[in-house]
Amino acid sequence: MKRLLLLSLLFPILTLAQESETPETKAPTVWDLTDLFPSVEDWETALNEVSDGIPVLESYQGKLGESAALLEAALKERSDLSRKLGRVRVYASLKADEDLGEPEPRARKQRVSSVSSELWQSSSWMSPEIIAVGPEKIEAFIAEAPGLAPFDHGLRSTLRHAPHTLTPEVERVLAAAGKLTRQPSQIYSVFANADLPWPTITLSTGEEVYLNQAGYSKYRAVDNRDDRKAVFDAFWGKLGAYQSTMGQVLLSEVEANVFQSEMRDYDNILDWTLSGDNLPEEVYRSLVKVTNESLPTLHRYFKLRERMLGIDDIRYYDVYPDLVESDEVFTIDRSIETTVLGVAGLGEEYGDLLKSYVQIDHTHVFPQKGKRSGAYMSGSAYDTDPYMLLNHNDDYNSMSTYAHEVGHALHTILTKEHQPYEKSGYSTFIAETAAIVNELMLQDYALENAKDDQERLFYLGTALEQLRGTFFRQTMFAEFELAIHEEVEKGAPLTGDRLTQLYGDLLKRYHGHDEGVLTIDDAYCVEWAYIPHFYYDFYVFQYATSISAAAYYTEEIKKNGEPALEKYLNVLKAGGSDDPHEILLEESGLDMTQEAPYRALIRRMESIMDQIELILDQESA
Ligand SMILES: [Zn+2]
Repeated sequence: MKRLLLLSLLFPILTLAQESETPETKAPTVWDLTDLFPSVEDWETALNEVSDGIPVLESYQGKLGESAALLEAALKERSDLSRKLGRVRVYASLKADEDLGEPEPRARKQRVSSVSSELWQSSSWMSPEIIAVGPEKIEAFIAEAPGLAPFDHGLRSTLRHAPHTLTPEVERVLAAAGKLTRQPSQIYSVFANADLPWPTITLSTGEEVYLNQAGYSKYRAVDNRDDRKAVFDAFWGKLGAYQSTMGQVLLSEVEANVFQSEMRDYDNILDWTLSGDNLPEEVYRSLVKVTNESLPTLHRYFKLRERMLGIDDIRYYDVYPDLVESDEVFTIDRSIETTVLGVAGLGEEYGDLLKSYVQIDHTHVFPQKGKRSGAYMSGSAYDTDPYMLLNHNDDYNSMSTYAHEVGHALHTILTKEHQPYEKSGYSTFIAETAAIVNELMLQDYALENAKDDQERLFYLGTALEQLRGTFFRQTMFAEFELAIHEEVEKGAPLTGDRLTQLYGDLLKRYHGHDEGVLTIDDAYCVEWAYIPHFYYDFYVFQYATSISAAAYYTEEIKKNGEPALEKYLNVLKAGGSDDPHEILLEESGLDMTQEAPYRALIRRMESIMDQIELILDQESA
């Protein structure tokens, strides 16, 4: 899944290459890629088959309106090619991720990418042609040919985009312009990752630390408060010096989005960003509304954090240190066993699938030299079980990541069992929910089984911080994204200064700066210049909607048992058979345009804080 980005993937903490041997474990710890292709030669053959199939697909051009049978044959051809290519791509990319320094797997990945864009370009005529055939004839074809059933949703989506699909000549120009509109994110990435002269500082321990993005993520959480302040001052001070340049880069990204939205005749930027998944605008509006109304909940968290850190003037650099330390060891075996127990509430069907999935050798568990950092699930090879890449570090976060990724894997398995290939591509809007439900259930289980208050406080603190980072912070990002796009839409100048002002206003409002809750220093308001999300097509609000839906389902299943569970599993089984908002609504009655899911999340957060305060009050009594 292209957009399957864990937050931890975005700011990867560099894992040191482990030279020690692999720990003893019951679970398979290295993936076996022979399920995909027995050998590189077989992979080669499959890639060539895709290449050879492209002219066949092109031969259907101009014939889609002739008969239902021809339409079906053309769609089937494209579907078969992309299904085969999916398998080819997964193999190449997993192989490359084992050691990013190896040139051969990298070269194979590039070959897939080139065949992939060849296939994409040579089928670009299909959507305009389907639109030209028109809805009446297409609907008649669907009614006539049962073989078109797997394609019905895709055909209707194509027709829905008719008002935003341009003439073939203009489509060609827009496709070519893609090379230019992708530049801002490339420039950002090169500048931030390679060229920016990040600072080095000396901590109170005497340790000299290099504050690039990974260094900043690590050292902003140190225990010593003066050190945290020094890290913030050095890091944001450096970025502040490049505010104008970074502003120009972000402006180009925003301009590129507004360009696409205007060329394709969308009403505004929100209309453009929501149209891919056909999401109603009220989803975004309700999220922002409830979040703003619930800022007192976030402020309660900051006051509680202040109390737990033993300070009386909480500032922005006090947000990251752990509230409670834990040296509990979560081996991969313990992570698997606890996840199985933790998600027992998802019933027998889910539990049985999970137990058999953990037995198969489709997971690359431990860090190794050159391996890709972070974690992901890869389910694009429809004809095999999904694969997972982890960098398991034996801490609680590793166990939680395991539960998350296995949630994606089980979603994929349930989808494949119930949907044909053509309807198996589920949306990010639903995908993250399936993963986070597992995390929340694991949290609840760990909490119920904690041996003492210290351990309970650790889980509660971690849970609380996840809600801040995934719900409040992402919604704040989304508000910022909308604000800066609207500035450009109305022709206002957007400079680095202006970006810092807009971001600073939001930062202060969210953190209760004016109410005396948490102080935001002006020097830190350049934070926008460091957030890679702002180059990802305006989708971060989906982190916030996903965790809200997850909080809603977790609460419903706990409260109402079987009937609620069945609805949730039906959502997972529906895969990509419809637009995501429709799936949630039709299969489970969850309406993301309403306030209920966001309120469920706030309830969860309040309840966690009640539990923490109870423990703290008992301790101080
Ligand atoms: Zn995920």
